[in-house]
Amino acid sequence: MFKKILIANRGEVAIRINRAAHELGIKTVAVYSQADKDSLHVRVADEAVCIGGPLPKDSYLNIPAIISAAEITDVEAIHPGYGFLAENAHFAEVCESCEIKFIGPSADSIRRMGDKMAARETVKKASVPLVPGSYERVKDKDDALQIAKRLKYPVIIKASAGGGGKGMRVCHNDVRLVSAIMTAEREAEAAFGNSAVYIEKYFEKTRHVEIQVLGDRHGNLIHLNERDCTIQRRHQKLIEESPSPAVDPKLRRKMGEVAIKAAQAVNYFNAGTVEFLLNEDGSFYFLEMNTRIQVEHGITELVTGLDLVKEQIIIAAGLPMTIKKQDKVQLNGHALECRINAEDYQNNFAPSPGRIDRYYAPGGPGIRIDTHVAAGQVVSPYYDSMVAKLMAYGKDRDDVIKVMTRALDEYIVEPIKTTIPLHREILRNPIFKRGQFYTDFIPRLFGKYLKEQS
Ligand code: ADP
Repeated sequence: MFKKILIANRGEVAIRINRAAHELGIKTVAVYSQADKDSLHVRVADEAVCIGGPLPKDSYLNIPAIISAAEITDVEAIHPGYGFLAENAHFAEVCESCEIKFIGPSADSIRRMGDKMAARETVKKASVPLVPGSYERVKDKDDALQIAKRLKYPVIIKASAGGGGKGMRVCHNDVRLVSAIMTAEREAEAAFGNSAVYIEKYFEKTRHVEIQVLGDRHGNLIHLNERDCTIQRRHQKLIEESPSPAVDPKLRRKMGEVAIKAAQAVNYFNAGTVEFLLNEDGSFYFLEMNTRIQVEHGITELVTGLDLVKEQIIIAAGLPMTIKKQDKVQLNGHALECRINAEDYQNNFAPSPGRIDRYYAPGGPGIRIDTHVAAGQVVSPYYDSMVAKLMAYGKDRDDVIKVMTRALDEYIVEPIKTTIPLHREILRNPIFKRGQFYTDFIPRLFGKYLKEQS
């Protein structure tokens, strides 16, 4: 096992990784930007190195600075967390060439799944069902119109290098399609340095259901059930749960098998997630594979009893993972996660950074909070607006909704604006309670808060 690792991230995930490392008896090195010198992830680590200015490109995306920090502190491995360099194949290669283990999959798996069009091509060969759509970049306006005619409106334009909902546009007619292609290409170029976009059929009554997979370098590859991430705003997750209210054991088995096939297609090891759209009739389609730990991994931990971050470290060290056989995977109870973002949700979800003066976290039976904030901490405008992940665990779905509702009622994060009151409203919504919702839940029922709806 490693003696010391570097955590190339910030915020709650850096603290999460630090916890797993310390429990495994591993020393940790934090890296931080000048904006984060007073952050909690710096305090909990055994050592810390400043790697540059507040802008991500100067620090958390600054590969030479991170590698230098790893070399001067003499670590054996780097955990990239999620976001920043987690899905950067070049970074994984640089780590390995410096004889530092990258705690994640191979650079080749990252590369082959990182580009959405390439990933579609790869999993298609493995007979994984795909969202109907194109396989090549849109060449021009006529090409786009022809694809849309074949798929029938509505369609969605996506950036091949995409992520975080950037470069995505839903179109209902030719006029909108033609103008949206150009803006999506521009947005993709600015965000990813790659303007390639392609087109998929847009499903209006669909759910986002993803399968957690875990594999090691000893040939073991299993899935750890599904997470339902259907409650989204602007195609970004707000609430996640496991198991999904729309998945029964038979469907779980089928989706799990398909997810494993997708992972096998790129010789996957470490933790990964295969995302699907699940339609009303039980048909499901591959969306993409995320080759890293996900924000919402904690709810899988609550229902399976596994520690996914520890597993990641164990796997990167070349050891076999704890559970090797599919039939040993547990699914007990029900878990929910609410993403608490520093956002003014009543004002189009505008970011609401600033100092937190009053902070009171809920606790008691069935509650887990992963966060990097506390009273006196400043939510920086430079980074992601997520301030905490509030997770609840109960014996079944009704039970966990009660636990989460009372926890949200206890939670105080002031005076910045957060999504806590929105979550309170959602948890009390009868459609949410029945579990019969689709990805249009927020725009349809809480559309008053969204200025532009796609
Ligand atoms: P990103 O990588 O930018 O997050 P994804 O491809 O994972 O983009 O999609 C994000 C969300 O957008 C999905 O969870 C889903 O709600 C919505 N979405 C994406 N593609 C489709 C589609 N073809 N039909 C309906 N909804 C879609």
